[in-house]
Amino acid sequence: MEEKYICLECGEIFDDPKKYSEDLTPSGAFEGGSFIHEYYACPYCEGAYRQAVRCDICGEYVNEEKIEIIDKDYLCSKCYDKLEEKDDE
Ligand SMILES: [Zn+2]
Ligand SMILES: [Zn+2]
Repeated sequence: MEEKYICLECGEIFDDPKKYSEDLTPSGAFEGGSFIHEYYACPYCEGAYRQAVRCDICGEYVNEEKIEIIDKDYLCSKCYDKLEEKDDE
């Protein structure tokens, strides 16, 4: 299965998080190596992201933490709500 990620800040879906690096080396005389902090974040806004899971009903990618699993089908919250409504009738 193709891996996708979803940004928690801007909601964009992307294949690969972008690698950012931040130079945390203290300025002035410093004995030791440099502190480069490398991290991965959203390529659009540098926000935090989560793995995205594709909804089996509408095909939208959503945050894996928000997916509902019904009978091995992955449902986004919108499709899950629709299903719930149907059950009420
Ligand atoms: Zn973003
Ligand atoms: Zn859906």
